[in-house]
Amino acid sequence: MNISIIGSGYVGLVTGACFAELGNKVICADNDTEKISDLKKGVIPIYEPGLEELVANNLKRKRLRFTTSIKEAVKESEIIFIAVGTPSLGNGEADLTGIENVARQIAINMSSYRLIAEKSTVPVETGEWVKHTISTHVKRNVKFDVASNPEFLREGCAINDFMHPDRIVIGVESKKARDILLSLYKPLHAPIVITNIKSAELIKHASNAFLATKISFINAVSNICDKVGAQITEVAEGMGLDKRIGSSFLNAGVGYGGSCFPKDLDAFITISEKLGYNFELLKAVKDINEQQKACVLGKLKDALWIIKDKTIGVLGLSFKPSTDDIRNAPSLDIIKALEAEGANIKVYDPQAMAKARSMLKNAKFCKDPYQACKDADCLLIVTEWDEFKELDFTRVKKLLKRPLIIDGRNIYDPKKLSKLGFIYIGIGRSEK
Ligand code: NAD
Repeated sequence: MNISIIGSGYVGLVTGACFAELGNKVICADNDTEKISDLKKGVIPIYEPGLEELVANNLKRKRLRFTTSIKEAVKESEIIFIAVGTPSLGNGEADLTGIENVARQIAINMSSYRLIAEKSTVPVETGEWVKHTISTHVKRNVKFDVASNPEFLREGCAINDFMHPDRIVIGVESKKARDILLSLYKPLHAPIVITNIKSAELIKHASNAFLATKISFINAVSNICDKVGAQITEVAEGMGLDKRIGSSFLNAGVGYGGSCFPKDLDAFITISEKLGYNFELLKAVKDINEQQKACVLGKLKDALWIIKDKTIGVLGLSFKPSTDDIRNAPSLDIIKALEAEGANIKVYDPQAMAKARSMLKNAKFCKDPYQACKDADCLLIVTEWDEFKELDFTRVKKLLKRPLIIDGRNIYDPKKLSKLGFIYIGIGRSEK
């Protein structure tokens, strides 16, 4: 099929490369000229395992093209996916200016039937506005369909998630749109949920909100564990084996972040409010997440007393492992709070340092985890990269000024570290 994807970021680029890999002819468009010029040369603007090879392979086979021209993308494609960003406005609402802008440009450039599919995460009823916008600007008699096809891939394993999804959600209003999307996704042999457009939009917001709720729930329980000396990892294991609950997203830690959960929660709360429903549960989920970042600061103060002039070695900047994405990463809030208290920060991350440099002007960026440990009063784990799980602790202990580890992701075995002579403080794992 001839497909175009408007917006070539984490989602658009992976989607485009994967559809090309499945044998389609794909045009990825973006209004960022530098990004497109790099992509044409095979230079990938983000770190996503396997993506560089996938793009190179499909560029070579001429199944993948890049352009800054929406006109060119619309002219040559029957299906057009909108995958632009939908960031949060200051008031919590999703900023849909990118969606509106692209919908208008698609309409202006359409000369025969097109299927326009929302891939970006959008509040319920956005599809109505996309339809309205296209109807207003399209030439008379040109037919089109709008569909909602939310994306569920996770950064860090995006290609695998795209190629082997738990489910594909297709929100449509016509048989034609349904058949086109069904045949596009047929090679993936995945369960397909067909709904109307509004339900599909809601499935995405509700899924992300539910996952964030699981994280805040276990974090809330971890606070009780800390108070009584219970082990959150044991509690989570005991809960997670119940098939009705499931073990994923039950890892207590410094809270969720990233480009999706915080903004999608805000957007879901705001659209609910607009529709006349006060989504108090999700407000509490947000509050708990903020408290969790503050709780790390509390643990540092309990251990170090005064933060001013202390050196903290921080491991991890990206909001989760295997990505360079630092959008809304808890690391940024935690480091800024520590700096505000007068701490000196030494930080290391395997992939995210380039993106973080301009945001953390006072921190010292280190070449490896050991440099971050050198002469630090404490080592703080913020992201659970595999590399941090395999440290040489004898070396770490020699380098640290005090053998103190605050494990914000519960990646270490407390007993093992205590045996090695460390003071170990995890999340919901204190001994009483
Ligand atoms: P991103 O910021 O990485 O990419 C968005 C791209 O759109 C950028 O390259 C930007 O230059 C481009 N763009 C913006 N306005 C444009 C316009 N008018 N014309 C052409 N290009 C334009 O964002 P992302 O992480 O890929 O997310 C995109 C959407 O997918 C969001 O709605 C997000 O919530 C959703 N989503 C993201 C993920 C994820 O893990 N990142 C997962 C599922 C869904």
